[in-house]
Parts: sequence; C-alpha cells; structure tokens
Amino acid sequence: MTMREQNPIRIVVVGAGVAGCLIVQGLHKHPGVEIFCIEKGPEVHSLTGTALNIGPNALKILKQVNPVMAATLLAKEISLPWLSWKAGLTDGTLLMDLSFQQVADNPGMRIRWSELYNQLRSPIAEKILYNTTITSMGYADFPDRGLLKLDVENQHTGECQTFDGIDLIVGSDGCNSQVRSTFFSRHSQPSHLGVCIYRLIAPNRADNPIDDYQQWFHNGCRLLTYAIPGNEIYITGTFPLDSSLIISDKYKQPHTLQQLYKPERGYSELCQFLVDSICDRIDIIHWARMQELPPVFGDDRGHVICVGDSSHAMIPTLGQGATQAIEDGCFFVALFHHFLNEAKTNKSRVNIPNFLKAIEAKRRSRIEFVQQFSREASDSLLAGSNPIPELKAKTQAPFLEKLAKMYRDTPKVLNESATLYLN
Ligand SMILES: Cc1cc2nc3c(=O)[nH]c(=O)nc-3n(C[C@H](O)[C@H](O)[C@H](O)COP(=O)(O)OP(=O)(O)OC[C@H]3O[C@@H](n4cnc5c(N)ncnc54)[C@H](O)[C@@H]3O)c2cc1C
Repeated sequence: MTMREQNPIRIVVVGAGVAGCLIVQGLHKHPGVEIFCIEKGPEVHSLTGTALNIGPNALKILKQVNPVMAATLLAKEISLPWLSWKAGLTDGTLLMDLSFQQVADNPGMRIRWSELYNQLRSPIAEKILYNTTITSMGYADFPDRGLLKLDVENQHTGECQTFDGIDLIVGSDGCNSQVRSTFFSRHSQPSHLGVCIYRLIAPNRADNPIDDYQQWFHNGCRLLTYAIPGNEIYITGTFPLDSSLIISDKYKQPHTLQQLYKPERGYSELCQFLVDSICDRIDIIHWARMQELPPVFGDDRGHVICVGDSSHAMIPTLGQGATQAIEDGCFFVALFHHFLNEAKTNKSRVNIPNFLKAIEAKRRSRIEFVQQFSREASDSLLAGSNPIPELKAKTQAPFLEKLAKMYRDTPKVLNESATLYLN
C-alpha cells in the first residue's frame, strides 16, 4: 500500500442537519475514518419556531443503527409519540381515524425542530465548523493526496482554510444544496406542486383539545395540527397557489386566512381555535412552497454523494422529508461499517465508488416509491379537490398497504457481534 492508502478515509460532510449529523455520529469514532462537518449556519438553527412529525420508519432504523440517539430522542421531555392519524372536514366531520398499530411496527414521534437539531448536534459538537462558507470545492488537479479539495471561509473571522486529501464529500446540505448544484447541476431543477405551506407554533388551549396528529380539509385547503412537548401545538396550513406560484401578501392577511378554510356549516370549535391561533400570529409564520427534487446519489466519478433533501427533497404531505433523511443517514452508516470491515479483512482500502453504487442500488427504488406516494397522497391539497371521497380512499386497502410498506419496509440492518451487516 502507498502512504495515502494507509491513511484513514477522509470524509467531509457538508451540512449539520438531520442526515449529516447522523453520519458524523456513526463514523467519527472509527479509527479508519477521519470525518468532520462544514455548517454554513450558526449553532442554533433558524427554523426553531417549527416542529416535525417523524415517521415510524425513521425510528425503526434509528433504533437498530444508533440506539443511543433513538433513546435520547424518544425521552418524554424531548418528544411525544405519534400514534395515530385523524382526518376530516373543517366543520368537524371525521372521515378517517387510523391507529398506527394497523400499519407500523412502532410509533413515530412529534418533536420541536430546535430540539431535534440540538440533540443531533451536541454529541459531535467538536466535529462541526459552524458559520463556515464553502468558497470552492471540486476534484483536485493532483489526486495523489486524495481526490477532492475544499476551500472555506469563517463568516465571523474571515479566516480561510483549504482541506485537501478528501476521499468523499457528503452533501447533506438540504434542498438548496451547494454540493448538488456544484456536482450534479444538470439534475438540479425542483418541481412544484402548486401549494403554499405555512407553519407556526402556538400555545395549546388550557383544556388541551389537541393531542395527536390531525388534519382538517375544506376545498383543497388544509389545517394540520398536533401537540408537542411544553403544552404547545404545531399548526401547518396549506392552500393551492395560482400558476404564478407566488405567495403574495394577499394570502398573509387574517381575513383571507379566516375565509380559506370556512365550510358552509361554519367551523368546528377546534378548527375555529386553529384559525384564530394562526391569525393572531401572522408575524411569526414560516411560509414556503411544496416542491420536490429528482433523486441523485453518487456523482459520475464516484467520490461525491447527496443524502437527505439534497438528494431527494420531497413533497411534505406524509412527513417523510426528515424521516427519509434519518433512513439515509442510518443506512449510510451501517453500509459504511460493512465496507470498512470488508476492507480490513481484505487488507485493502474502502472502495468509495463501489460504496456509492451500493447506496444507490439499495436506496433508489425506496426513495422513488416514497416520493411518488407523497405526491399521490397530496390529492386533497390541490385546487378542485373533493376531500370526502379522497379521505375515504385513504381508509381503504390500497392506500393502507402503501402506508404499511413505507412505515415497515426500512432497509434491514442486522447487528452481529458488533459488526453491522446489511441484507
Ligand atoms: C418548516 C418545515 C417543517 C417540516 N416538517 C417536516 C415533518 O413534519 N416531517 C418530516 O419528516 N420532514 C419535515 N420537513 C422536511 C425536513 O425538515 C427535511 O426534509 C429535513 O430536514 C432534511 O434533512 P437533511 O439532513 O437533508 O437537511 P437539513 O436538515 O435541511 O439540513 C441541512 C443543513 O445544511 C446546512 N447547509 C445548507 N447549505 C449549506 C452549505 N452550502 N454549506 C454548509 N452547510 C449548509 C443547513 O444550514 C442545515 O443545517 C419540514 C421542513 C420544513 C422547512
């Protein structure tokens, strides 16, 4: 072996989000790996005023690959269990009441965004360079010291640094990924569903009318809510956009939002409470458009990979964005351990291009299925939708079978005598 071949594999993870943190956590203690993370943002994430529902499938694989983190996230003061899915009309008519026992092997969870990031980042704090901008990255001209190099600048001090000798760049930098646009430019265009989604956190009422996950529809407009730790509720509203796809100020007015969801029979007491909570907090609302990105995995030369949203941002209807980022992170770690063990046995170095091909071979069909299912499940969010038959269809076998496939069919990971092995 040459000197370089004897060195640890050098991995740079771009983005300390959901997938990136799990990858660093899973590999930073391995002697055959040198890994660190570049994060453009500060330690406290900007979307602190929102929350997430994480699907049962994420927790199923997290418990297998990173049981310590799973136990941390599932602690009572950190998250609440996601056990069921109710849906109906904004006048209070209930059309669907699904227990996850029917479709999943374990509950999902409901968690504050800031809490999730805090728990994911704290165990690897010394491995993350915060407030750091990548000024350039690419393949090195003289690859004898490693294939890739990266230049960064600290946003506060202006200090610049070059990292070379890099074997693998992992793009876990979200839906506006710099890694994706640098190495996969021809695949970079998002496609829009034509739906606005806005989110906020508000106090629950004193009598706690809101607990687990529930959705209330009116003519293509939807209110979604659930309780999170701290006696608060997360609310997210959606409505169809016109062909310009612009979220104009006319939508951001209390009187418009009060009318959007209003049924002929008037709001149920609960939906009136939700709409009032939204209208009282217009200033703190986070507005966005639903969009997805066509999946990309490894680049042509086999030393750059995208994971999470940068690989396959998806329509958020089934709460699978962060959920799939967790599946990605866990699968990456388990497979990399397998490759490291094989390399040790063969007294060779991990073959990174083969590793990236193996990731794609296992993940592509699952990601395509979940993206397609998330799009299909969005029928009631579109202009001209008819929520009664659409929600009833979601209580029938074809939909429930797909839900069970999504929640149960995570990549299988066996832990044999401290060796992670995948089948
Ligand atoms: C308000 C909101 C609510 C959501 N609700 C849900 C939900 O209920 N359930 C669910 O499963 N999903 C949900 N999603 C989607 C989910 O948040 C994402 O799918 C998930 O966070 C993707 O994880 P990731 O690891 O790919 O990237 P992220 O978690 O987005 O992390 C990317 C990280 O990369 C950093 N970064 C970006 N660019 C650079 C760069 N150039 N250099 C260095 N660092 C960079 C960012 O600062 C960030 O820390 C929601 C999204 C939003 C916006």
